Amino acid sequence: MLKSNEVEFLIVGGGLSGLLLALHLQARGRSFLLLESASMPGGRVSSEQFRGYTLDRGFQVMLDSYDQGLPYLSLAELGLGYFDSGAYLQGPQERAYVGDPLKNPASIPDILAHYPFSMREMWQLLWLTLSLWRRSDASIWGDPESSTRAYLDNRGFDKAGLDRFLQPFFGGVFLDDNLEVSSRLFCFLYKRFALGRAGLPRDGMSAIPAQLAKQIDPGSILCSQRVESIHGQEARVVGGSSFHAREMVIALDKPSASQLLGWTEPSKSRETRVYYYETDACPLSRPALCLNATGKGTIRHISFPSSAQPSYAPVGRHLVSVTTKNQADGKASQLDPDCLLNEVGEIFRLDAQHWSFLRSYHVSHGLPVMPSMPGPGFLHHADHTWLVGDYLTYPSINGAFESANKLANHLLGLSPCGVEAS
Ligand SMILES: Cc1cc2nc3c(=O)[nH]c(=O)nc-3n(C[C@H](O)[C@H](O)[C@H](O)COP(=O)(O)OP(=O)(O)OC[C@H]3O[C@@H](n4cnc5c(N)ncnc54)[C@H](O)[C@@H]3O)c2cc1C
Repeated sequence: MLKSNEVEFLIVGGGLSGLLLALHLQARGRSFLLLESASMPGGRVSSEQFRGYTLDRGFQVMLDSYDQGLPYLSLAELGLGYFDSGAYLQGPQERAYVGDPLKNPASIPDILAHYPFSMREMWQLLWLTLSLWRRSDASIWGDPESSTRAYLDNRGFDKAGLDRFLQPFFGGVFLDDNLEVSSRLFCFLYKRFALGRAGLPRDGMSAIPAQLAKQIDPGSILCSQRVESIHGQEARVVGGSSFHAREMVIALDKPSASQLLGWTEPSKSRETRVYYYETDACPLSRPALCLNATGKGTIRHISFPSSAQPSYAPVGRHLVSVTTKNQADGKASQLDPDCLLNEVGEIFRLDAQHWSFLRSYHVSHGLPVMPSMPGPGFLHHADHTWLVGDYLTYPSINGAFESANKLANHLLGLSPCGVEAS
C-alpha cells in the first residue's frame, strides 16, 4: 500500500531521459512525480528567445534517423528545418562545398570541380559510408573499441585527409578536437548522419523536451525543486520539503548524480562554448556547416542556423553561430566576441565586421567522458534506486532516450525499443 503522500516512482531530473521515463510510467497508469531543479524541464537541450532570435544553449542538432524517442516524439510536429547533408570545408586557400554524393548525386560536379579530397580520400569516405550503412547497430556496438583517431588511422586515413573533414566535423559532434571518443560512437553516429538529416525544430531545440513535457500530467512535474539528498526512499529538496516513493529513479547528468550520491571518482565532462551574432545576409548559398579545415585558429565551425530553420531569426535577418575549439586542457576558450570576428575574416574570408554580437553560452558539462561505450543502459544503484541518463548508454539525444527505454523495459516489461510489449 502507498502512504498518502507517497508516489510509486520519484524521478529526479527532467532531462530527456527523465521525461521519457515519465511518459512510459504514465502510459501504464503508474503513479510518479518528477522533480526538476531548473525552472523548466529539458536539461541540456535548451534554448532561449533573445531579441527575436532563437538561441540554443550550445550548437546542437536533431537527427531524423534517431530511433529511440518514439512513440512520444513527433518530428512532424517539431517542424524540423534541415541542414544540407554536406559541409563547407574552409581550407587555407579556398572554401569548397562537399555534399554527400550518395544522398545528393547533384553535388558530384561541385565536389569534382573544387576537389578538396584526393581520389584516395574520396574512396575511403565512400567505403566507410557503404560499410557502415549496411551494418546493424548491434554489430557496430559490438566492434573492437579504440579511440576514433586510432580507428581512422587503422583504416588508412592520413592526417591531412582527416584534418580536412572528419576531424573538424566529428570534433564538433563529440566536443573533442582530438577524436579520443570511442570508435563505436563514431561509427554509430557516422551511420546516423549517413542515413538521415540534421535539423532544427521550428521553436528551437527546447521544443524536443517541451513536446514530451506537455504530454505529462502537469500535476506530476514539479520544477525549481533541487533534490539535495536521498536517503533510502526519501528525497529532500532545497527548502526542506521531502518526497517519498517506492522506487527512486535518478535521471541526472553524471556530475549531478555524482554529487548527489557522493561518488568519489571524479566525473569528467566535455565543455563547449558558442557565440551568436546577428546579420542581415547569409554569405553561404547552402544551409550547411562551414568547418575550419585549416588546422589553425580557435574557431571550430560557423553556421547560419536561420538558413536551415528561418524561424531562428526575425524576417530579413540571419543568426550566425560560431563554435570554438577547446584548449589543450579541454577547457572551452573564453574570447572577446568582437576579436573573434577578426578570425572569421582571416580564416573563413567572410566579411563579419558588420555582424553584431548577441550572446554566448558556455556549457561546462556538454557530454560525459566515458571509458567505453555503450554503457549498460541503466543501473540498479541500491535497493529501489535506479539510475538513467546518457552517461549510461552513449552521449546524445538518442542515448538519453535509449537509457529511459531500457529502464522502462526492465521495470514495466516494455519491448526493447520502448513500446508496450504485445
Ligand atoms: C551543447 C550541447 C550540444 C549537444 N549536441 C547534441 C547534438 O547535436 N545531438 C545529440 O544527439 N546530442 C547532443 N547533445 C547531447 C544531449 O543533449 C544529451 O546527451 C542529452 O540531452 C542528455 O539527457 P539526460 O536526460 O541524460 O541528461 P540532462 O539533460 O543533463 O538531464 C538531467 C536533468 O537533471 C536536472 N538536475 C540536475 N541536478 C538536479 C537535482 N539535484 N535535482 C533535480 N534535478 C536536477 C538538470 O537540470 C537536468 O534537467 C548536446 C549536448 C550539449 C550540452
